[in-house]
Amino acid sequence: APPGRPSYKIASIPADGIGPEVVSAGIQVLTTLAQALDEFDLNFEHFDWGSAYYREHGRYLPDDALERLKGCNAILFGAVGAPDIPDHISLWGLRLAICQPLQQYANVRPTRILRGISSPLSNCSRKDLDWVIVRENSEGEYAGHGGTSHLNEAWSVATEVSIFTRHGVERIMRFAFEMARSRPRKKLTIVTKSNAQRNGMVFWDLCAVKIAAEYPDVHWDKMLVDAMTTRMVLHPETIDTVVATNLHADILSDLAAALAGSIGIAPTSNLDPTGANPSMFEPIHGSAFDITGKGIANPVGTFWSSAEMLAWLGHREAANLLMESVENVTETGIKTLDLGGNNKTVEVTERVCQEIERLV
Ligand code: ATP
Ligand code: MG
Repeated sequence: APPGRPSYKIASIPADGIGPEVVSAGIQVLTTLAQALDEFDLNFEHFDWGSAYYREHGRYLPDDALERLKGCNAILFGAVGAPDIPDHISLWGLRLAICQPLQQYANVRPTRILRGISSPLSNCSRKDLDWVIVRENSEGEYAGHGGTSHLNEAWSVATEVSIFTRHGVERIMRFAFEMARSRPRKKLTIVTKSNAQRNGMVFWDLCAVKIAAEYPDVHWDKMLVDAMTTRMVLHPETIDTVVATNLHADILSDLAAALAGSIGIAPTSNLDPTGANPSMFEPIHGSAFDITGKGIANPVGTFWSSAEMLAWLGHREAANLLMESVENVTETGIKTLDLGGNNKTVEVTERVCQEIERLV
């Protein structure tokens, strides 16, 4: 490569179910884009970690996994989960075992209605729904803290303790205010449940108010999570950037994806905003074993995640070009079954590649 030309090492972890189908589609599109633009190089390093690896080795990751990932600039992830392995084993064994040590504390989920795709909401057009949900990704309800005792029929008890630290809450609030500030409407909704959860959620609100003082130019409001679900459905146009806890944002972002057309199109970025560690990009959907191997998985969520990855690496124009290509294709009616179309994964992928080559 000529001096000064950026070159990136991208870890690919397709893992389970439709993960390999959508990740290979994503790599094909990224490779086409990099060749067409001829401005940077992408080199993929493939890792076979997933449930098959777990069945063979009794664990999801080898000892040197984090070291190897730290040698990469970003991670493209598929999905984890298999019918014969409890979901909490696979999730903690692979996805969280990467996110947590790599300090990917900000989970970012943009949602908008792509051209050619319609919302199930009759009151919602493309201009009404343009959101970014920021999810706290390191603690809260998913801290893994708790226990069980007396696991017998007569009397059993289990606890799941939410953890909120000043460090954890303030950094996600700051991240969310920065995100809101970077968008035209400069508007942030802070989701809470401080009427019922009188410790952690009240603390969450206090941290929010403190950080809000650093951002006088951002308009913010506070909303209980239950009320937020109705607002998303009834008044989508009043929402812009949203910040919520690990659990609340997990649920809200699935709702958001469905409102924007399908769970198959939505992307997720797991970011270490300090840049000390590589960030990880993945579609929000899971392994979807009901459609695995049929060639009908929607690759758009992985394309959009790939665009987010390029933007994070500093190539915002390349990211926009990728999304422009995707939307030019969805607009012509080339879509997979989940979007009411009848095109296969490979057909959508080929068309997006052709569109990239046409636009560049
Ligand atoms: P997880 O347990 O990790 O959430 P899952 O197998 O429950 O995974 P989800 O991703 O939650 O699957 O998706 C629910 C359903 O939505 C799937 O069973 C599938 O029918 C559909 N679906 C999900 N992703 C896609 C996709 N990319 N393309 C088409 N359909 C999809
Ligand atoms: Mg699911």
